Amino acid sequence: MIISDVCLDERSYKILIGKDIINMEDTCSELRHFSEGKNVFLVSDSNVAELYEKNVKKLLSKTGTANIKTEIFPPGEKSKNLSTIEGFYHSALKVGLDRASIVVALGGGVTGDMAGFLAATYMRGIDFIQIPTSLLAMVDSSVGGKVGVDLPEGKNLVGAFLQPKIVIIDTNFLLTLPSREIRCGLAEVIKYGVILDEDFFSYLESNVKALREMDLDVYESLIKKCCDLKAHIVCEDEKEHGVRSYLNYGHTFGHAIETLGGYEELNHGEAVSIGMMMAGELACLMGLFDRDLLKRQRSLLTQVGLPVTFKNTFSSDEIINIMQNDKKTQGGNLRLILPEGIGKVKIVKDADKSQIKKAIENAID
Ligand code: ADP
Ligand code: ZN
Repeated sequence: MIISDVCLDERSYKILIGKDIINMEDTCSELRHFSEGKNVFLVSDSNVAELYEKNVKKLLSKTGTANIKTEIFPPGEKSKNLSTIEGFYHSALKVGLDRASIVVALGGGVTGDMAGFLAATYMRGIDFIQIPTSLLAMVDSSVGGKVGVDLPEGKNLVGAFLQPKIVIIDTNFLLTLPSREIRCGLAEVIKYGVILDEDFFSYLESNVKALREMDLDVYESLIKKCCDLKAHIVCEDEKEHGVRSYLNYGHTFGHAIETLGGYEELNHGEAVSIGMMMAGELACLMGLFDRDLLKRQRSLLTQVGLPVTFKNTFSSDEIINIMQNDKKTQGGNLRLILPEGIGKVKIVKDADKSQIKKAIENAID
């Protein structure tokens, strides 16, 4: 097992990473600090519960928990709304969950975001533990404390910051994750390389085969790397006033494509992959980024099976409109994260609209 630390003073926490760690004694003793004697509200979607509820309950029981209530919801982003959360509140009250109880998220990003939002708001906030099961949640959403739900108007529009007490990442979970979901997580992994770490980007380039073949040793080390990179950024800028926004690389473009596609045609990672190509192209047009480096980005994305273009079902103007309504714009000004190299990005507020349009159109099939 390897351990990463997220250092946020009294809210610091550990991330345990490794193969089959939910069945290990060491995990049990780390977890016990937060679960012993507590009532547990275990949140999971039906896919994940079917596969892992039993073993995770066993782990929790071994730490000496009181009662465990499992709350299962239908899988998918469409569940991530306030009405599901309201259902959670009612069942939590019914089983007598109190201020001293804990919420455990067992699942992908959707589960983590909702269980976290429940924990942040139930009785003005109770403790929360993350057991991410999708690659996206392991490398991104389970670390850093952003929790929340979607509104009909857009994704993640209601939420809170709540750091978990501990994060437990068992890489064995990846063996049942559909390959499209693996690719979705890899988009974020590649993102970390482009924004922060050229050596890591090169490591990914030389391990494409291992990534495709689900070599869990390679996944373990990339998860550790991504968690460390994210932890470092979150420690510096927890509430996203500065460097944390680097993590939005590819996301302003990506969210717009995701929204127009109705969240179904393209999943989050696929949209981010295309978004990174648009951001990279714009950076080239602005003379910030070298075309050869953009080719390297394109090649790595393509090799792991991610899309770099999309079908012409909506126009560049529609995309720009949505980008301008993104909650991350400030006073209507687009703030874009653009690469200057592999491992180096900057915030650009004055990109020219015609160049943005050109960069988008370049990614249309
Ligand atoms: P994401 O993690 O991409 O934010 P979800 O939480 O919706 O989004 O997870 C994506 C899908 O993968 C869901 O259908 C979920 O049930 C499924 N899933 C998550 N983890 C696993 C796993 N380890 N094995 C199989 N399916 C999983
Ligand atoms: Zn993302």
